[in-house]
Amino acid sequence: MGFNPKRIKEIISIEYYMDQEKVIDIIETLKRTYPDSKVSLDFRNPYELLVATILSAQTTDKAVNKVTPELFQKYPNIESLAKASPEDVAEIIRTLGFYRSKAKNLVKMAQRVVEKYNGQIPRTMEDLTSLAGVGRKTANVVLGNAFGIPDSGITVDTHVKRITKRLGWTTNDKPEKIEQDLMKIIPVKYWVQFTPLIIDHGRAICKARKPLCEKCPIEKDCPSSTLRQI
Ligand code: SF4
Repeated sequence: MGFNPKRIKEIISIEYYMDQEKVIDIIETLKRTYPDSKVSLDFRNPYELLVATILSAQTTDKAVNKVTPELFQKYPNIESLAKASPEDVAEIIRTLGFYRSKAKNLVKMAQRVVEKYNGQIPRTMEDLTSLAGVGRKTANVVLGNAFGIPDSGITVDTHVKRITKRLGWTTNDKPEKIEQDLMKIIPVKYWVQFTPLIIDHGRAICKARKPLCEKCPIEKDCPSSTLRQI
């Protein structure tokens, strides 16, 4: 049976927004299903995660993981990156989309961290988003996964956008609005884990074009299940 967005809209009801027990149940089931779920960018410290996350815009984590070993060998810390020429950085990351502007942003970001923050990667949303190439999404990834600061928000990527809509947890399209909706119903302690779990679920089961609802561990709680559509 086809996936019918119109039908989904009809099925989604207010109780799905309000029932936090159901939300927790779903997240716990996903945790059991994907026990090794974590951010798929390779990093060893906050500096490396910040750089890798900036590079990951409009490209896959896999592609980023291919270029970062050479990048971090040549520029092992924020100080060395601050002194780099954007052309040299661009040469190393040239396989990634928008590599020239990403290289410029990386060097600018590093210079500001050295000058304004004494070489320490900032730990607040406001300071992080003041850096070149860093939006809310990047800042959330860094705060949650490098510093374990969960109350900074929830990272909304394409999988989170699609699946939370299917689950009826949001009707919004803009990532900032979706994030606000999710922050209201997902307990803070799950904020960091939530995005990697949903990404794993989106890749394995709840695919964009044809979700594999018959194999889905949260099917019974999903208002968009194709198994129940008529
Ligand atoms: S039942 Fe599972 S796979 Fe199907 S739409 Fe819902 S979350 Fe996605």
